[in-house]
Formats: sequence, C-alpha cells, structure tokens
Amino acid sequence: MKLEGKININDIGKFIITERTLPKQPNEYLEVSFPAKLTCDTEAVFDNINFPFAISSVKSHKIKSLQILGKSDEKEVHEIVLENENQFKFLPGDTIGILPENDEEEVEFILKRLDLLEKADIPCKIQLKNVSAKSVKIPVHIPKQTTCRVILTNLINYKCVPKKSLICSLLNYCENETERLFLETLSSKEGNELYNDLILKKSVNVFDILKAFESLHPPLSLLIEHLPRLLPRPYSISNSFLNNPKEMKIIFSSFIDNRGITTKYLKKIYNVNSTKIVNLYFRQPSKFRFVEEYYSKDILMISVGCAVSPFLGFLEEKSYLMEQGLEMGRWFLYCGFRCKSTAIYRSRIVNYEKNGVLEKYYECLSKEESTESEYVQDAIKKSQVEFSSLALSNNSILFICADGNLISKDIRACIQKCVFPDIDESDSKDIILDWIKSGKYIEEIWI
Ligand SMILES: Cc1cc2nc3c(=O)[nH]c(=O)nc-3n(C[C@H](O)[C@H](O)[C@H](O)COP(=O)(O)OP(=O)(O)OC[C@H]3O[C@@H](n4cnc5c(N)ncnc54)[C@H](O)[C@@H]3O)c2cc1C
Repeated sequence: MKLEGKININDIGKFIITERTLPKQPNEYLEVSFPAKLTCDTEAVFDNINFPFAISSVKSHKIKSLQILGKSDEKEVHEIVLENENQFKFLPGDTIGILPENDEEEVEFILKRLDLLEKADIPCKIQLKNVSAKSVKIPVHIPKQTTCRVILTNLINYKCVPKKSLICSLLNYCENETERLFLETLSSKEGNELYNDLILKKSVNVFDILKAFESLHPPLSLLIEHLPRLLPRPYSISNSFLNNPKEMKIIFSSFIDNRGITTKYLKKIYNVNSTKIVNLYFRQPSKFRFVEEYYSKDILMISVGCAVSPFLGFLEEKSYLMEQGLEMGRWFLYCGFRCKSTAIYRSRIVNYEKNGVLEKYYECLSKEESTESEYVQDAIKKSQVEFSSLALSNNSILFICADGNLISKDIRACIQKCVFPDIDESDSKDIILDWIKSGKYIEEIWI
C-alpha cells in the first residue's frame, strides 16, 4: 500500500536507522468510556464552544446552489449561494466562519481502525484518567459527553502536521515491528531528514499514517490529546445585502485533487448530502469593509485569483446605490488571474466598467498562452502615473485582497515603488505603514 503516493509502505524498511533518540513521551491523561444510560445531545455539540471572532451564534444555513465559475489544470473556482433566512445584516467585505466536517468515508475508516464502529453513535464520556493531575485538562473544544463519530467528524483535525511527540505516542499501539521501527525513526532526533521530507514537504498527515500502517490501532483518547481542534474557516461574502438581503454568496477555490478539508466538504455537501445544510456564524468585521463614509471616495481595488470575491460585493453594492441616485467616487479594479478560464465574473465586471460603476478594469493573466504573462504588479507599473496620482489624493482609499502573505507583500512593495519612486525605500515603507494605520491602505489576507 502506498502512503498516499508519498512513500511506498513496502520500502519503509530502507529508511529505518539504528540510532534513534526519541522525544519524551507525555503521559496519557484522557479516557473515553461508554457508561450505560449516558445521554448526549449531538445537535448541541457547538453550544458551549467559543468560535474565533464570532458576532453571532452558529446556525444552519441551507445551500441554495453551487456552481463552478472557473477551472485551471490544478484548481477549480466555485460559488455557493446560501440562504440568509434571518436577514443578518452584512456589508461588502464582511466574512463568515464555516464549520467544516471531516470526510464521512475517512471518519468511517478511522472508526473501524480504532475498533469503534459499533460504538460510533453511542454516547461516550471523556474524562481525565487521573483526576488529581493539575497540569492537564480536557481540551475546551471537546464536550464531556458526546459520540466518537461527532469527535472525529466535527471536532478534531487529523489532517494537520503531526508533531514528533504524536508519532512517538503512536508507537505503543503499533503491532508490526517494521512499522513500529519506521515510526520510531520518523519521530527520532536522528530521523529529522525523513520527517522533513515526509511530513513537512510531502504533507503526510495522521490520516495518511493510519491508512498506510495497518497494524496501528491507537485509542481515540490519544488522538483527542494530541490533535488540534478542527477550526472554522473564514470566507468573504461576495454579494450585497442591500441588493439581496436573503442570500449570501461565497466564492472559493479548491485543488481538483481535494486537498483542503473545508473546500472538499463544501463541494461534497452540495453534491452528495441531501440536506445541503452548512453550519456557520458571522465574524467580527475588520477594516476591510465598504462603509458609508467611503461612498464619495475614489477607490483602488487590487486582487489576485478568487480574492476578487469581496470586490464583487463592493461593486454590486455600488451599482445598487447608484441606481438609488447616489453620487459616488471613481473606482478602479486591478485583478490578476492565471488564465481567462479562471477570470471569474469577467462579463459582469466589464459591464460595470461600461455603465460607469467602474472607471477602469485592469485584467492581468499570468499563465494565458496567447498573451504575454502579466501580473497585477505589471498593470500597476504600466498605469503608474494615474495610479500614483489617485493613490496620493486625499480622497482615495486602497483595498487589497490576496490569497497569501507573499502575494500581498509583493503588491505592497510594487505600490511603494510606483507611488514613491524618488523616496528612500525605508521612508516610503513607513508612509505605507502610516497609510495602513490611518485606514487609507486596507489589506485582507487569506491565510
Ligand atoms: C479573512 C479571510 C477570508 C477568506 N476568504 C476566503 C474566500 O472568500 N474564499 C476562499 O477560497 N478562501 C478564503 N479564505 C481562506 C479559507 O479560509 C481557507 O483557508 C481555504 O478555503 C482552505 O481551507 P480548507 O479547509 O479547504 O484547507 P485546509 O485543510 O485548511 O488546508 C490549508 C491549505 O493547505 C493545502 N493542503 C492541505 N492538504 C495538503 C496536502 N496534503 N498537500 C498540499 N497542500 C495541502 C490546502 O489545499 C489548503 O490550501 C479566507 C481566509 C481569511 C483569513
């Protein structure tokens, strides 16, 4: 069996090294039991859990539709339309937190491996083994009474990077000698190279390890002790509440081979799950939102890939407000995409340009065969005179949305050079930092 195509299990003997200094194994401190007559409310699983940046409670929302907006060799871009039944008010740029679920088949596999299939849906109790131990406690995201299926589906992330201490703790539950020695090597000080290659470079996770190492049967309590919480993922709302308060749209990109937990879940829940319900909450707004005081401002918007999503909400709201007769500032949109097939909502954006919602749309394609490769930075450089005079105006504001820290850093460096070509680099850097502080330069970074 292959370790998710990352290493051949028949070859693992080759990697075993004789000198193995193991990390200190922490004492196991949790136990999962199944007392008779125990009850639990699996519907209320999130009731006592805090969610990062939540300003609403977690509610189920129906997915009305899911469509593919664009596709490249590696990635697909999807749009989901969700019901906003209670008409929770949001502004363009606001975000929701989606509670993902681990894959049903994967959970079934783990339950089987942990010999828990028959007890998967029976209420279980999670408690400390030694109640007098002060330094340990039940993780806050784990209810004291729940079911094994809920824990594996909703509460723990078995796709994270496994620490050496976790790999080492698994050893005690590995029956096969070669498999055990391999895991010992992987968790040892001397096995750094193997750990770096397999875990950090090839992204082998706990699920991959369980799948490949058939003699490994750890208890669920050990996974609860070591694995982090399955956290909600933020998504930007891509439509305008003013234009349609009953719907919320999100746009997300995913690898075609389904590497991400939430993106895989969202695609599957719509296509396979008959309920088509997703749990989510509204997140505290950041500075990245289109508020009334910006109505008269000239706005420069810059995005890469599907991070144009919040700007679609900005544009829809501006279009709506203009229809109501409001006078608004001039807007400029710089978008970078890999190729035409991933340039989402192109015709809608071009229309906004035609009817004056947008003053100018700059589309940059980095991997389109028929055109010269262009990034948003190139378009900013080409339009340097106009860009810098707008950016320097007291009536302007810059919004940047990028999927990743590196892209936003590159864009910031480019703007810095274009707007302040004659100023010393460290001084121009400080000016941009002042712009960020004062709210003239507003970044949203998807990490
Ligand atoms: C404020 C904010 C707003 C956001 N808005 C949006 C939005 O509107 N649309 C959007 O698409 N995203 C948005 N994001 C990012 C989003 O929250 C998620 O991080 C993203 O969708 C990936 O989530 P996931 O659970 O599918 O991936 P995870 O499972 O968390 O994985 C994280 C990344 O690692 C990659 N990965 C996982 N396993 C492997 C592997 N074995 N090998 C290689 N790579 C791997 C995944 O593909 C993914 O890119 C936003 C983030 C923030 C902070």
